[in-house]
Amino acid sequence: MTMPNNNDVSASSDSDTNVRIRNAINELHVRYRDLHEGAVADYIPELSKVDPDLFAISVVTIDGEQYSVGDDGHMFTMQSIANPFVFGMVLDAIGRERVREFVGVEPTGNPFNAIVLDRTTHRPMNPMVNAGAIAVTGLIPGDNPTDRLNRMLATLGKYIGKVPDVDSEVFMSEKSTGDRNRSIAYLMRNFGTFVRDIDEVLDQYFQQCAVSVTCRDLACMAATLAAGGVNPHSGERAISRTALRDVLTIMYTCGLYESSGTWVHGVGIPAKSGVGGGLLAVVPGKMGIAIFSPRLDKQGNSVRGVRVCTDLARSLNLHLFVAGDESVANEDLAQGVNHG
Ligand code: GLN
Repeated sequence: MTMPNNNDVSASSDSDTNVRIRNAINELHVRYRDLHEGAVADYIPELSKVDPDLFAISVVTIDGEQYSVGDDGHMFTMQSIANPFVFGMVLDAIGRERVREFVGVEPTGNPFNAIVLDRTTHRPMNPMVNAGAIAVTGLIPGDNPTDRLNRMLATLGKYIGKVPDVDSEVFMSEKSTGDRNRSIAYLMRNFGTFVRDIDEVLDQYFQQCAVSVTCRDLACMAATLAAGGVNPHSGERAISRTALRDVLTIMYTCGLYESSGTWVHGVGIPAKSGVGGGLLAVVPGKMGIAIFSPRLDKQGNSVRGVRVCTDLARSLNLHLFVAGDESVANEDLAQGVNHG
């Protein structure tokens, strides 16, 4: 028997869907605004100065409709959320085979900043953790460091709709304290998996982490990934479809570090978090979601970000393997999702 599924975004008319998205994010903002669990990142000293109570939720649909609540205009740094976008840029620039020579595609089960390489290949495990992200940054093409930085910013700009800035205070703060990332880079050079000057690549990596965005920007970036690589506001293509497939796959399996399994189990859509408090999630063919809330859990993921996404996935039936399946969705709602 077929019945209308009130939880499935794809099953309802556009205006119903839009009302449900707006109501859902407004409700979730109220539900979680008094949640103060977690702590802001302080290993990058500049990040510890952020107001921990800031909280925004933004959604952009693939048609370019935007819904937003809270501190959605507040600028914060992307941190690791830049990783999938730079990975996509490098895939398009030098090709998948070449990229795979430098970085793997396996989830790690380790913290994002683990000083660990694949035991057999000596490559970083995947491009979402620091080691892999640094290796990928080292593959950005260009004539000199400035050219490479500008290319990276121009690529991010296609997703946002304008070229973003680097927060120089956060950049300098991480540069002057980033010995752990320096260790990772030296380990990679030891195994011959690092082709450029370490200081130059680390500077660029710290700059990409310090790119400033708002929650609204981040939702537009996510929506671009959801819309087959085309920015729904500008109509500009930011990434090829082939590279996009790889980016979304790796975000799905590795986007939340050692919480990635719990994430796909409970939420079930590609996502990426950053220690600046941002969390971005992609519902392919439907919408991009972004949350900004700086208090982090032990794995370095925004506490409110994870809660909001989990609840949103349930109320809008977003899990990739449940979407459209009324019986599973209802069962899921009745039983509650076990988030581990
Ligand atoms: N810049 C941060 C670092 O390298 C990024 C980590 C993150 O956002 N998870 O440690």
